[in-house]
Formats: sequence, structure tokens, C-alpha cells
Amino acid sequence: MSKADYYEVLGVAREASDQELKSAYRKLALQYHPDRNPGNHAAEEKFREASEAYQVLSDADKRAAYDRFGHAGVSGGGPGGFGGFSGAVDLGDIFGDLFGEMFNMGGQQRSGRQLRGDDLRFDLAIDFEEAIFGTEKEIKIRRLEACETCKATGSVSGRGPSVCPQCHGRGQIRYQQGFFSVARTCSTCGGRGSIISDPCQICRGETRLTKEIKLTVKVPPGVEEGTRIRYTGEGDVGRGGAQSGDLYVVLSIRRHDFFEREGQNLHCVIPISFPQAALGAEIEIPGVDGTVMLKIPEGTQSGKELRIRGKGVPYLNEKGRGDLIVKVVVQIPKKLSRAQRELIAELGNSMTVENKPTSPGLLDKMKDLFS
Ligand code: ZN
Repeated sequence: MSKADYYEVLGVAREASDQELKSAYRKLALQYHPDRNPGNHAAEEKFREASEAYQVLSDADKRAAYDRFGHAGVSGGGPGGFGGFSGAVDLGDIFGDLFGEMFNMGGQQRSGRQLRGDDLRFDLAIDFEEAIFGTEKEIKIRRLEACETCKATGSVSGRGPSVCPQCHGRGQIRYQQGFFSVARTCSTCGGRGSIISDPCQICRGETRLTKEIKLTVKVPPGVEEGTRIRYTGEGDVGRGGAQSGDLYVVLSIRRHDFFEREGQNLHCVIPISFPQAALGAEIEIPGVDGTVMLKIPEGTQSGKELRIRGKGVPYLNEKGRGDLIVKVVVQIPKKLSRAQRELIAELGNSMTVENKPTSPGLLDKMKDLFS
């Protein structure tokens, strides 16, 4: 049996906007939701079809693939993926508000995931060194928490919402206007289909309140720019005390004055003198955690990169650290004392460099050869 066109299923034009898709699906889902049509297999099938169509068309990538290739373009999420009813219920994650509405309409609590609270994001800036060695930060976040006064029922008595007596849970009132039947939003429940006859004075029947809480974030050593740390259940609580969403702490790392990071390695540039380069030397340089010794071999060329093992960034989930890579740049003095000038002139007389042109590539090769 060939599958129906997704746009036809939802009854929208091919160029329908996301909002149009959503409201078309919302209408169908409300009409054919199995909770409202118990035992009606035709309705269940319609609901499944609409859910599948919406799931594909609401995803920009999938929609583009479907537009180009039809059902074959999205067969990965085809009948198998949507089969049975579990697939449709998962849609609650995609637009929890719709199922929240349904919950209110039915006037009875649905269990589980549909009511889950929102995930939250917190952007945390940390210092360069903190990213390398780890840190602990106290953060303050504002999130929705269950109202304690009404125990998240939204009502003084604790009964919670009940079906709206005016519209009987439909959210709309139909009336006859001449030839037409017209629907308008139920004014008693504001379209929700349910009312709370004795709303909690503290949360005004919302079951949740915004609160500021403190949380300690443990940043492990070796994190990178954009690392996300997830705190399960630390997001907004769901309506009616349902499961909380998660909190994602997203890290950004401040720049260092002279270190740059490349994966687990650190890079910096150190100026050295001509005698240090020519004769070799051992110098102390600042590392990211205290001073380290840098050994400059005899005859080091300007621009040479020297590697200090184990002085870089620790690996996130294993032992060991990356390296510190120091680029040494030989400084040519711009001002000389008379004595220095004479010494260098004397040195110059004893040294000869053939001032013969070579190609830049060859020069690099020669440097490698001498290093
Ligand atoms: Zn309350």
C-alpha cells in the first residue's frame, strides 16, 4: 500500500510555515488522540499518520529530504520507526506544551514524560587555568520548582484541575449562527478545558514557582571550549510535580595572556638571545603551573619549536598530560653599546655565511637539517 503524502495528511500546502504545520498537527492530534477516541482504530490510525507526517515535516533536514525524495528520503524513520503507539507518545518531547494542553483538557494527570519540565542552559565562563586543572564554581540559576503550598496540585484542596463544566473539556463552545456552526474559545477555562475551582493563592494554580537556587558545578580537568556538563533533573520541574528537565552547563574558556591551547598541547613563544641560541642554554620559563626548565640545544635556529613533555593539558578521562611546545625566537639587538658592537664585529670577522639565494622551501629544509 502506498503511503499518503505527508502534506495531504496534515492538510497543508507544500510551502506551509512551521507554525502552520504545528497548528494543523495540533488540530488533528486533538481530534484523533486515542485518549479521546478509546477503541476507535480509525482515529488511532489517523493520529499515527498525522504524528508521523508532523515528525518528518517539523524537522528541517527531514523535510528537505522528503521534499526531494518523497517517502524514500526519510525511510529511516519510516513505518518501523513510527510503528506502534510508543513512537507517537515520544512526540511529547518535541512539543510538550501540546500534551500539557491535553492533560488539562482531560482533567486527569497523565503519567510520565509528556509533562516533563524544560531543560535549562547555563553559560559559565572559566579561566584558562581552571579549564586545565578543573575547578568548582557556585552558580545561581532561576528555575521552576514545585509549589510547596499546594504540593504542586495548583489547588487549595489538593484536588487539582477538574473538567471545565462549561465546555466539558473541549476548550471550545460551539453555537449556531444562522446556517453555520461557529466555535469560540471557552471563556470559563480560557480554552484549557479544565479549571481549578480553588486555585492555590501562592502559585495561582500554576503548580510551579520560579525560584533562584545555588548549585555547585564541578568542572573536571582538561575540559574544552563548549564542553557541556549535564545535571539530570536540575532543570524546570514539570507541571503538576512531574519529572524535571535537565540542566546543561556550557563552558566557555577565557583567553590566556600568552598560552594558546591546541587539544592537549599548550603553545607559547619565548624570545632568546643569539648567544643562547648559538651556545645552547637552560632557561626557566613560566609554565601553566609553576616554572619549568627549557633546554635550548646548541645551534638552535630562530623559530624552532621545542617540546617539554607532560607540561600541557591533562587528558579528560585518562592519566597523563599533553606537552608544552615552546617556539624560540632569536632576538636581534636593536641597540648596542660600543663594547658589544666591537665584540660582534670581531665575531662577524670570524664567521662567514654564503649570501647566496635559495628557494624558501630549500631554506626550510636546511633549517631542519641543522636542527
Ligand atoms: Zn500552589
